[in-house]
Amino acid sequence: MTEALYCIGCGAQLQSTDPQGAGYIPAAALAKQQASGNETYYCQRCFRLRHYNEIADVAIDDDEFTRLLNSLGQKKALIVNVVDLFDFDGSVIPGLHRFVGKNPVILVGNKADLLPHSVRRARVTDWLKRQAAVQGLHPIATLLTSAKKNFQLDELLATIEKYRQHGDVYVVGTTNVGKSTLINAIIKSTVGNQDVITTSQFPGTTLDQIQIPLADGHDLIDTPGIINGTQIAHLLAKDELHYISPQNELKPKIFQLTPPQTLFLGGLARLDFVSGQRASLAVYVENNLLVHRTKTATAAEFYDKHAGELLTPPADISKMPAFKRHTFATKEAQDLVIAGLGWIKLSPASHFDLYLPAGVGFSLRNPIV
Ligand code: GDP
Repeated sequence: MTEALYCIGCGAQLQSTDPQGAGYIPAAALAKQQASGNETYYCQRCFRLRHYNEIADVAIDDDEFTRLLNSLGQKKALIVNVVDLFDFDGSVIPGLHRFVGKNPVILVGNKADLLPHSVRRARVTDWLKRQAAVQGLHPIATLLTSAKKNFQLDELLATIEKYRQHGDVYVVGTTNVGKSTLINAIIKSTVGNQDVITTSQFPGTTLDQIQIPLADGHDLIDTPGIINGTQIAHLLAKDELHYISPQNELKPKIFQLTPPQTLFLGGLARLDFVSGQRASLAVYVENNLLVHRTKTATAAEFYDKHAGELLTPPADISKMPAFKRHTFATKEAQDLVIAGLGWIKLSPASHFDLYLPAGVGFSLRNPIV
């Protein structure tokens, strides 16, 4: 682009390089519009909002996000924080409790449809509350939803109505938690499928916020997401994401292991069962991700030979940071949660070595199943 062009919907400067960023328009769409002689340009996000009544998430950088969060504390509003139940650690907003000030927070654990049916929802809600408390966040209500399967959305709306006290509602979350899907589902359930939502009905739509009018003159405001750098998704190409992003209920893969044995999760993680009683380990990851068992003694050699081929994703191992080793022991049965990849239910009184690409986070929790 030679001269700067701007989206007439949100005012963002148009660009064709960063699909996640503000003002993105695919180069081909821009060229077509320019060739047509019509000089009204919409960025992809405003285009989708205008033509499909669909909002899309836009990511902003850390500084902008901090500014946005700071501004929340200065308003009187209800905050709805959406997190991903499948990747809680990767979807936490650090320090959110400080930013929101005295404003009440509703915590929404989305993607509940991924949890095995055998898991009691009350147990997950309790776990979510405890995790939030560790972050210093004390939500006024905690709900599990599935934006995709329309689960508990009416309850969420009722809870929002209950606590917003005729005020505005800000929906915040990191990218990929399902915030857009959730808000689109809310729009559909409140106004139906009629073609009534266009940018003209979102007068407050600006560079980084979409306002959805509520009945009493207040708004539900969708804020842009921040990219959480610890998410393993950033190590993969777009066409590899289906290996790690579950779409349906997780089915555990059970392995009977006698130490020293090793499990590979594709080429992304290696878990060595160093010592302990023979045990069965249950792996909860996207059903298409290959989990491969081998002897620890030859695991390193096996990885060198097969990473990027049998052990995939990633297909291009050279772009992945080198493995970093983490050593830990369990007293009780525990879930090992690998940020964005899933979890493994581990046996008690055992020692493990975990290898992850440097920068990828993990944690231990009481078993969820
Ligand atoms: P955003 O970046 O937070 O706005 O996230 P999106 O709404 O774009 O969703 C990110 C991904 O999660 C997409 O692949 C969605 O299909 C998926 N997703 C969103 N909500 C759910 C849900 O409730 N369950 C499941 N299984 N997937 C979901």
